Amino acid sequence: MTEKRYLFTPGPTPVPPEVLAATAEPMLHHRGPDFRIVYERTLGRLKEVFRTENDVLLFAASGTGTMESALVNLCSPGDRVCVVTAGAFGERWAAIAGALGCEVDRLAYDWGDSPSADDLASRLAEREARVVLMTQSETSTGVVADVRSLAAAAGQGGAVSVVDAVSSLGAVPLETDGWSVDVVVSGSQKALMSPPGLALVSVSQRARDARGTLPRFYFDWERTRKAQEILDAAFTPAVSLVRGLDVALGLLLDAGLEAAFERHVRLGRACREGIKAMGLELFSPDDDSAAVVTAVRMPEGVDAGALLLLLRDRHGVTLAPGQGPLKGKIFRIGHIGYFDVFDVTTALAAIELVLAEAGADVERGAASTRALEAYAEPAARV
Ligand code: PMP
Repeated sequence: MTEKRYLFTPGPTPVPPEVLAATAEPMLHHRGPDFRIVYERTLGRLKEVFRTENDVLLFAASGTGTMESALVNLCSPGDRVCVVTAGAFGERWAAIAGALGCEVDRLAYDWGDSPSADDLASRLAEREARVVLMTQSETSTGVVADVRSLAAAAGQGGAVSVVDAVSSLGAVPLETDGWSVDVVVSGSQKALMSPPGLALVSVSQRARDARGTLPRFYFDWERTRKAQEILDAAFTPAVSLVRGLDVALGLLLDAGLEAAFERHVRLGRACREGIKAMGLELFSPDDDSAAVVTAVRMPEGVDAGALLLLLRDRHGVTLAPGQGPLKGKIFRIGHIGYFDVFDVTTALAAIELVLAEAGADVERGAASTRALEAYAEPAARV
């Protein structure tokens, strides 16, 4: 029998069979009526998931594509941007802004810390910025930032707020309009339960008015917005991926976003409780905000690379390593999107087996039991 594979990384994430089936449907012409039906429905569903009345623009790109799009559309050469960074993806904002010739003012925290809106407000009072770039779920550490207060601080400081919601959209609450977030960028391959390859960005009127002069073509928001307005596409869309995303968004919205948020809280809780029951130490916060990724400190004397290889080769389980300065120090379990508690218990059971084999002092059998108990508790305890 072919070995069964389990994908527990924070992206790409598992894709439901009906979404995969939709991506395998025969090709449609992107300017024909059949595609338009799918396109219109998908764009409408995206607005619901982003919780915005503004347009959500769709690009064939990975999430980083729409991060870059935010900078090339909002900034002019030399503009100062404030980057709130506490991990690999905050650093990515800084790298893109630097590459494009912006002046980068980093509001930097240790990896794993939670950024504070008060710090942002003080920084902007000290030094104005055109744009504030932030990350809702810092996938490299498991921290979910308080975007609501950070965006409010950015707005009060006179800056356009831009939120990377690549790993958080559809997993934790994000009220784009309700919290006056100007720009939200995301990707298809995480909580939206779709294959990688589609990048999404919502753009407020304020962000449209803030147009800068950096050069752009494919990622020019206005070109794509005008095309989408008449259900046309500026360029050939990734037709099959859009068909898949349409089905995935339908699944998400039919069950309800609130149900998805609640499930992610309980999955995070199950994962953390299981990890602790095994005797391991968490790196990500031990509270219900950490609903996207659980980051775990490597037990003393166990090699992180070897652990992940064993998990994959022996048990078909893929987890994610630490990134940047956390490489070798932590491993990460994603519980985003098409996930249930048995995915969590499978991950925990495999970790337990491999660690016991590596001679680590782990409590056998406790993790799954505790995870199931924690999952059963209603998320309202939050
Ligand atoms: N931001 C965050 C928070 C992410 O988790 C990721 C992907 N891991 C990205 C940005 C980059 O997305 P992509 O790899 O799709 O370019």
